[in-house]
Amino acid sequence: MTFEERAGAVRERMANAAVRAGRNPSDVLLVAVTKTRTVPEMLAAVPFAGAIVENRVQEAEGKKKSWPAGAVPSLPWRLIGHLQGNKARKALELFDTVDSLDSIPLAERLDRVAGEMDRSLPVLIEVNMAQEASKTGIALEGFDALLERVLILPHLCLEGLMTIGPLVENEAGVRRAFAGLRELAGKARARSGLPLPILSMGMSGDFEWAIQEGSTMVRIGSALFGPRNYG
Ligand SMILES: *Cc1c(COP(=O)(O)O)cnc(C)c1O
Repeated sequence: MTFEERAGAVRERMANAAVRAGRNPSDVLLVAVTKTRTVPEMLAAVPFAGAIVENRVQEAEGKKKSWPAGAVPSLPWRLIGHLQGNKARKALELFDTVDSLDSIPLAERLDRVAGEMDRSLPVLIEVNMAQEASKTGIALEGFDALLERVLILPHLCLEGLMTIGPLVENEAGVRRAFAGLRELAGKARARSGLPLPILSMGMSGDFEWAIQEGSTMVRIGSALFGPRNYG
């Protein structure tokens, strides 16, 4: 299959899932998860994706250096991997948004550096809905405190929430986690008065369930590019 064929198949499955849920397909953004992919592979995704999504600061830095100037259309770059505080400055230089905000110290660090750079940083809070130790994201118990802190930090602009679906294979278990994030976003909206339009949930193996539970951003890697080779 060519890239165009894979992208077309993903888009069609996204649209079908949206329609099944009584939603408008255009309300769900496809973002391309490009960890381990080469710059030429990534450029093929540009016409099909709403954003370039990378997991690691260092990997993104190398790719941005060889990214052709004026590649059209230019896409925002979003960070979805766990970010260490000491890489906050570099992350702000490379990324338009941080989708994996998962602690108060990281929020404070990003806010301070964004202030020094005289910019505002859009963020998503990543929540470990699966309650799996192997998963990144803030534990549910810590969510309220992190939310309160983010709301008072002047250089962070909260746009929504993100989660990674649980490893279980059964539909009900996965959907329960996604529904939980949707409900949490509702509470955060009521608390903050902010629209919080982004619910980033769903990957290659579970994006249709995520769309049925209200996802507005699906993060797709292997279904677009083929299996990952970590070499
Ligand atoms: C790698 C990754 C994805 C994409 O995974 P695929 O299964 O290849 O679609 C999405 N979200 C996060 C956080 C990831 O690390």
